[in-house]
Amino acid sequence: MKVIVIGSGFGGLSAAALLAQKGVDVKVFEKNESPGGRASVHTDKGYTFDMGPSWYLMPDIFERFFSRFGKTTEDFFELKRLDPSYRMYFGADRSVDIHSDIEENYRLFDSFEDDGAEKLKRYLESAKEKYELAVNELLYHDYEKLGDMFNRRLMKEGRKLNVFQNLDKFVSKHFESKEAKRVVEYSIGFLGGAPNNTPSFYHMMSHIDITMGVFYPEGGMRKVADSIYRLSEELGVEYCFNEPVEEIMFEGDKAVGVRTSQGTYEADIVIVNADYAHSEMDLVPDNLRTYSEKYWKKRVLAPSALVAYVGVNKKFDAFDHHTLFLDDDWEEGFDQLFNPKKAAWPDKPSYYVNVPSRTDTTAAPEGCDTLFILVPLAPGIEDTEARRDAFLEKILDDIAVKIGEDIRPYIETKRIFALEDFKDRYNALRGTSLGLAHTLLQTAIWRPAHRSKKSPNLYYTGGYTHPGIGVPMVLIASTIVADRISDELGL
Ligand SMILES: Cc1cc2nc3c(=O)[nH]c(=O)nc-3n(C[C@H](O)[C@H](O)[C@H](O)COP(=O)(O)OP(=O)(O)OC[C@H]3O[C@@H](n4cnc5c(N)ncnc54)[C@H](O)[C@@H]3O)c2cc1C
Repeated sequence: MKVIVIGSGFGGLSAAALLAQKGVDVKVFEKNESPGGRASVHTDKGYTFDMGPSWYLMPDIFERFFSRFGKTTEDFFELKRLDPSYRMYFGADRSVDIHSDIEENYRLFDSFEDDGAEKLKRYLESAKEKYELAVNELLYHDYEKLGDMFNRRLMKEGRKLNVFQNLDKFVSKHFESKEAKRVVEYSIGFLGGAPNNTPSFYHMMSHIDITMGVFYPEGGMRKVADSIYRLSEELGVEYCFNEPVEEIMFEGDKAVGVRTSQGTYEADIVIVNADYAHSEMDLVPDNLRTYSEKYWKKRVLAPSALVAYVGVNKKFDAFDHHTLFLDDDWEEGFDQLFNPKKAAWPDKPSYYVNVPSRTDTTAAPEGCDTLFILVPLAPGIEDTEARRDAFLEKILDDIAVKIGEDIRPYIETKRIFALEDFKDRYNALRGTSLGLAHTLLQTAIWRPAHRSKKSPNLYYTGGYTHPGIGVPMVLIASTIVADRISDELGL
């Protein structure tokens, strides 16, 4: 049994490992030079940057993945729970830390508004309940037809999910102060959405970041990708880097292999981890596509981003490991991000700075900081060098106001990665950094299918599919796909 996997992001790596463990002969073709996909690495002058994911959340999902191989994360990397979990700036005047000690967070919420601690307690209880329901009943299930959504427990519990209410409305019922609302709403950005276009059951994100906590894998997120890569190689997976797939070959409706930049290869099953839209539009013939061009045009895409990888020969303590700078008019920016008619470079950007060197001495030379500055942008907007340079200057001006110091004189290395790079490096639809937003109509059965509806042996994994965006979600997507293939083949 030969399986070809297209792409070596977390989706490709994990699907390959899971199937190799079942004795399947797996070959992975990756267009770029290294494994990890969005979790690529950039190094310069002694600074090391994780180019994509930086928040290690949902440690239970990682453990569950490695346990499939009789391993734990400790066999591969050390995990440190961060404290503070993150720092949040509200406008220019005020910043707060969210801590790993929940009591400190209750006190903080009491400082935000009357009964803040009690309100946070109630909110987190509800978030925990939804998280447990999601992990036990929703996330690991495949959805091909509506009936799959209606198992008994889900029917019973599903009413509690309030599927038609958006997060913004839900949060407003719990909290009054701007500060409290922001702390519980910002994390929806991990799902590539905004509080007003994301269903309220995703308030489980607050259980994830506030209660379960924020972790750092020693050596960075690249260490996690590298661990799955090494694990899969030990299980016999073969990798071909710098070898993009140019066509999926079919006989009738059956996928029989791939044509790459260097040759043709036969397969019994093809699994696509590369961006779903690119694969369907560019690698599959018209008559075998599950989704039309119109379908992709109508999807609500998660934002793209401008990411600046900046090494500075000074330590800036105003930045914690994770620091969020939310503009005073945070909510006003959502239109420019999500409404294609109003899409534009943001007038009042909110942004995020990750400083792994705060925790990890190997990330930067001694006495220096590795800064990863991420500003969400609307997908599809014009991205030129002049635009990005000017925009980064604007962000650096803003940082200077907020932390009271200009970082520019200390910059030793700087690289900007934005829409055009997401398209070039990852074949990302309109330069989206994350894929499809988690709107209600892009959740569960309404996300693109794990198995092609036109070809019986063509599968898809990765962030475009259920359960969605983020490294833990992608590990779950591959678990669903690998289990399904194993079941069908009786492995
Ligand atoms: C800037 C940024 C920050 C993020 N932050 C976080 C975070 O903090 N925490 C978190 O959990 N998640 C985060 N995410 C999301 C997370 O990184 C993604 O959801 C996840 O890594 C996606 O994995 P994937 O396997 O679906 O896709 P990818 O990682 O994109 O993998 C797809 C692979 O397919 C390859 N490919 C494309 N076309 C072809 C082709 N024709 N032939 C061969 N190969 C091809 C690509 O090169 C790529 O390697 C972030 C993402 C970005 C971009």
